[in-house]
Amino acid sequence: MNAAEDKTIVREYFNSTGFDRWRRIYGDGEVNKVQLDIRTGHQQTVDNVMGWLKADNNLPELSICDAGCGVGSLSIPLAMEGAKVYASDISAKMVSEAQDRAVKAFSNTINPSFAVQDLESLSGNYHTIICLDVLIHYPQDKADQMISHLCSLAQSRIILSFAPKTCFLTILKKIGSFFPGPSKATRAYLHREADVIKILQKNGFAVQRQAMTRTRFYFSRLLEATRIPAE
Ligand code: SAM
Repeated sequence: MNAAEDKTIVREYFNSTGFDRWRRIYGDGEVNKVQLDIRTGHQQTVDNVMGWLKADNNLPELSICDAGCGVGSLSIPLAMEGAKVYASDISAKMVSEAQDRAVKAFSNTINPSFAVQDLESLSGNYHTIICLDVLIHYPQDKADQMISHLCSLAQSRIILSFAPKTCFLTILKKIGSFFPGPSKATRAYLHREADVIKILQKNGFAVQRQAMTRTRFYFSRLLEATRIPAE
């Protein structure tokens, strides 16, 4: 499968069965045990990012691009803390759900601002770029291109999460218990942490903070990297 096909499949999935599945997982209604486990894991990733950024105590001064924002699970709390948030996603359905949730949270959709856009076509300049749980849908070479593009938009910082390619997860994936159920409609790609760090370094970024969320069915490595100042 080539990268363009991967992207088309991902877009179609998140506008159809994937939308129904992930909207429920990223919600607060009743879900099955696997989905509840993934919801809990994903919330930990969101909480880790919020914890880092709140500890810096400068969110109202920041412009943040949430690339692949899904239903706004991170964009909305970031905006609540005063950051200016530019949220976008390849899926029109996910963006529309995110907008509905933002209206419920703030009674307006000025901040975050939302756009239906794939991250490869994003432009502009943001203090911080965040891309959570998106790279899992793409193979390493495509993920490298995506990370490089996102780095080019970041003035200071990039925060990424990905499913780490460890022996344990490689075996789990082989026996099919990784992201079980209908999400198998898209492929789940694991990424070697060393490869992600290498591409960040190549683009002039150095890792500052890291976290790992591991539940039964959700595995996500979170890295924060900042731009290395020119000498
Ligand atoms: N980042 C969100 C979060 O953590 O709540 C959503 C994560 S969800 C597993 C993956 C999201 O990435 C989906 O909403 C999907 O539509 C989006 N996505 C996948 N490929 C994308 C691309 N090339 N550009 C922008 N968004 C993309």
